[in-house]
This record gives sequence, structure tokens and C-alpha cells, in this order.
Amino acid sequence: MSDTAPLFDRVAIIGIGLIGSSLARAIAEYGIAREVVCADRSKDACVVAMELGIVEMATTEVEVALDGADLVVLATPVGSFAEVGERIGPLLAPGTIVTDVGSVKEAVLRDVGPNLPDGVHLVPGHPVAGTEHSGPAAGFASLFQGRWCILTPPSGADAAAVEKVTELWRRVGSNVEIMDAAHHDRVLAITSHLPHLIAYTIVGTASDLEDDTKSEVIKFSAGGFRDFTRIAASDPVMWRDVFLNNREAVLEILQRFTEDLTALQRAIRWGEGQQLQDQFTKTRAIRRGIIDAKQA
Ligand code: NAP
Repeated sequence: MSDTAPLFDRVAIIGIGLIGSSLARAIAEYGIAREVVCADRSKDACVVAMELGIVEMATTEVEVALDGADLVVLATPVGSFAEVGERIGPLLAPGTIVTDVGSVKEAVLRDVGPNLPDGVHLVPGHPVAGTEHSGPAAGFASLFQGRWCILTPPSGADAAAVEKVTELWRRVGSNVEIMDAAHHDRVLAITSHLPHLIAYTIVGTASDLEDDTKSEVIKFSAGGFRDFTRIAASDPVMWRDVFLNNREAVLEILQRFTEDLTALQRAIRWGEGQQLQDQFTKTRAIRRGIIDAKQA
């Protein structure tokens, strides 16, 4: 197969929000499929997707979108995967590849895997790219450029299907890493899920302050608060589902975080400046590493 020949005939994206619509745009831009269609339960999202010319066809009837699809991408919130999996399973022809973009990966094996008939290949994926915006109008084709996409195929997954999904993400500009779903969920608990929980907490604490202090929080937000508000503006349904579906890993990392926070609290109380400085020096080096890895 040449590098430019389409990889798929018809890609059906279920959920044409930020990530689904970004992938649809990128697939069209790089000629990765002959046709991209979508299904979304939101009629408005379907209308916008058609108006913006993101897909050839948008429908609220998932059955219609699946007809003739050789790749199906689940791009709805993780909490809907069991219901969507149950609905699409009986409609899929042998040889179809099913992937997803969900932020949690063990839940995909649990909720989608058992619903797929023999001969349908499941290759779960997670593009580590996004914004705080939602919906089809918020997407853009270059979202995945230079970002990582983590694939978590179950043991015994079809090698050719894994290779095709890998190639899909490479062609939209991502670097691909393959790992075990449980490992993915532990890593993302610290790099993504905990930071979101902290942001939601800080912004929540500020919004509970008395009214006069609250107006100053907004006025002087450039002191650091502002950066948390961007993360805390992320989609509430998506993040509810992330925490409910990665409970064990998030609770474990939250416990460690709480212990470390208590240690800093103690250092402040007892005036242990060296401990504070050592900790802040260590964390500065991590930031430099992220910049060097071009992930800033
Ligand atoms: P989004 O912009 O909110 O779009 C989700 C779309 O799916 C909405 O149009 C929603 O309709 C629709 N939907 C919800 N349940 C459905 C169902 N049962 N059947 C059909 N359509 C349904 O979401 P997103 O930010 O693109 O996130 C999608 C997935 O990508 C999630 O699994 C998330 O974990 C993952 N992800 C997100 C990011 C990010 O930064 N946002 C990054 C990486 C991965 P309604 O409006 O009616 O609910």
C-alpha cells in the first residue's frame, strides 16, 4: 500500500464533537479514507457537521452511518461506550475495525469488547491532544500534529488491524505508542486526570469565596489562577466519565498527591525553606524536559 492511497473506504465516526470532528477533518485533509460519515445523537451537531462540510453524511441513526463502514471510531464520552457498543455490535460485518478516542482505556475493553462479534477487530486508542472546547465547530485538522496517540490493543489483537490504526494516526501527524490498557490508565491518571481534578478544585474553591473576593480573583487571575480556569472549563460530562471509569488509578494517585501536599503544608508551617526550594527546583526541571520533548 502506498503512503498516499486511502487506508479505508468508509470511516464512520460516532460522536462528532471536538475530537470526532478533528479526526474527520484530518482524515479528509490527508485523503486517508474515500468517505467519512458520522452519527451523533445530537441533531444540532449533525447539522453543524454538514454545514461545515466536515463529513459526507451526518445522521442521528447510527445504523445508517455504519452501513459499509470498514472503520468505526467511537468518539462519544467514555460513559456511553457500553450503550454504543451494544447498539453497534450486531450491525458490524466481519473484518470491520472498531477503534475509539476515549481518555480511559480499560473501560473500552470492558464495555465495548464483549459487544463485538467474532471477526470484528477492536483497537482502542487515545489521542493525547485536545482543548477545553466541545462540539463539531471547535475541531481542527491539525489538532493531532506532533502529539502522541496511545493504542491499547488487547492481547491477541489482529496485527493487520493494529497496523492500520497505527498508520491512520501517523498520517494525521501523531506519534504512536502501544501499551497495555491498565498501564495507560495509570500514566494518564497522573499526567491528565489528576491535573484536571486539581484545577476543578481550585476554581471551585475560588467560586465559593465571598463576592468581593471573587471579583478580585478574576481581576488578578494572571497570578496563576487563570491557567487553572482553562483546564477547569473542560467538558463536564467527559470528565465525569473519566473519573468514574478510571476510579482505582485516580484514587491511588490522589492519595500520593495528598501525602505530598501535606508534606509541603508542613514545610510552610515550620518555615522549612530549603525543602520548599528543593521541591520547586525539581519541578522546574520537569518543565524543561517537556519543552525539550516539544510537548509544551
Ligand atoms: P464533545 O465535543 O462533547 O462531543 C461528544 C459528542 O458525542 C456530542 O455531540 C454528544 O452529543 C455525542 N454523544 C454523546 N453520547 C452519545 C451517544 N450515546 N450516541 C451518540 N452520540 C453521543 O466530546 P469530545 O471532547 O470530542 O470527547 C469525545 C471523546 O474523546 C471522549 O471519550 C473523551 O474522553 C475523548 N477525548 C477528549 C479530549 C478532549 O480534550 N476533549 C482529548 C482526548 C480524548 P450531546 O451533546 O447530545 O451529548
